[in-house]
Amino acid sequence: ILTRRPKNIAIETNPKHELNVIDAELPEPGANDCLVHQRHIRYLAEASLTPEHHAEGDVHFWKTGGIGDSIIKSDLGLGHESSGVVIKTGSNVKRLKIGDRVALECGIPCSKPTCEACRTGRYNGCPDIIFYSSPPIHGTLRRYHVHPEAWLHLLPDSISYEEGALLEPLSVALAGIERSGLRLGDPLVICGAGPIGMVSLLAAHAAGAAPIVITDLDENRLAMAKRLVPRVRTVQIQRDADARANAEMIKAALGQEAKLVIECTGVESSIHTGVYASCFGGSVFVIGVGKDFQNLPFMHASFREIDIRFQFRYKETYPNAIMLVSEGLIDLKPLVTHRFTLEQGREAFEAASNPAAKAVKVQLLDE
Ligand code: NAD
Repeated sequence: ILTRRPKNIAIETNPKHELNVIDAELPEPGANDCLVHQRHIRYLAEASLTPEHHAEGDVHFWKTGGIGDSIIKSDLGLGHESSGVVIKTGSNVKRLKIGDRVALECGIPCSKPTCEACRTGRYNGCPDIIFYSSPPIHGTLRRYHVHPEAWLHLLPDSISYEEGALLEPLSVALAGIERSGLRLGDPLVICGAGPIGMVSLLAAHAAGAAPIVITDLDENRLAMAKRLVPRVRTVQIQRDADARANAEMIKAALGQEAKLVIECTGVESSIHTGVYASCFGGSVFVIGVGKDFQNLPFMHASFREIDIRFQFRYKETYPNAIMLVSEGLIDLKPLVTHRFTLEQGREAFEAASNPAAKAVKVQLLDE
């Protein structure tokens, strides 16, 4: 493969918000690493960007130069949702072999016994974690990428490369749902029908939430949610309406107040809506990422014992995500709306950032 395709095409941005398709160095795997030829790499389509809305995606990095404390100060390779095939292995690699199909888990914690987060199994909280595409670490949006064997997940034949790349956002949803304490038959609201809201919908449907309402500003996204899970009830949020008025629409669609709200926008007004839609003792579980400081309907939440909790990435979700997809409980394929080659990186990013393209997931493929 390497003699036929020597170029390591990579997609990078920089502090000037340029998007460059470059020929990167071909990396050599270390003793514990594998060289992976990436076959499907996906990045976020983010057509709905508003100043209030801080999606954690490649388009966001390109357009705004950073997220929170992660600021782009030099060239940065994008991408952290990938799958591919192992083409070379380091001398200590025993579990994987050349030809294995794998999904890449892109947060690499230090794994030292002196690290409390790693030792206690909460490795997403490791202070020394390296996350590919989070500055200054280059992302995986490149043809060839070296990855530690320990953080490569073997894909069964029943899972395509395309689905393998989507295990990353599914991991976010699984981590959130597990910590949210969702139970069979819980009336659930999902705020936001972007990719994270949609994978949360698929996972909550598989987990037995009932009934389920999903919200969005965009009717196309709600229509797609309905195609994914026909029993979901949709509510189109009115941008200028008061959060209480939007919550009333949600409660009417749900037929009751929500036991659980999974918030997938990070937008302040949407979090308010979620709080107002919750029952006494309910919870608002915030996966969305938003403004550094936000107001809350403090006394409403206090007088109704509404828990407000948060999720940061994921831990130990890939094996379960693989099972859910391979056993047919979750079908990720309809989420991919646009496909390009690596060489078409610029066109792909243009499509992802153009609302008229109505993209949900944009993937770059390499045969
Ligand atoms: P996205 O931008 O594609 O989707 C967000 C959706 O929310 C859009 O469809 C938008 O129309 C909708 N929306 C905006 N304002 C709304 C409102 N007031 N009410 C209802 N819907 C509204 O983003 P995504 O990829 O789906 O990610 C969702 C959020 O999750 C982002 O904030 C992202 O940064 C965050 N995220 C968090 C983690 C984590 O570890 N916690 C991981 C990945 C993504």
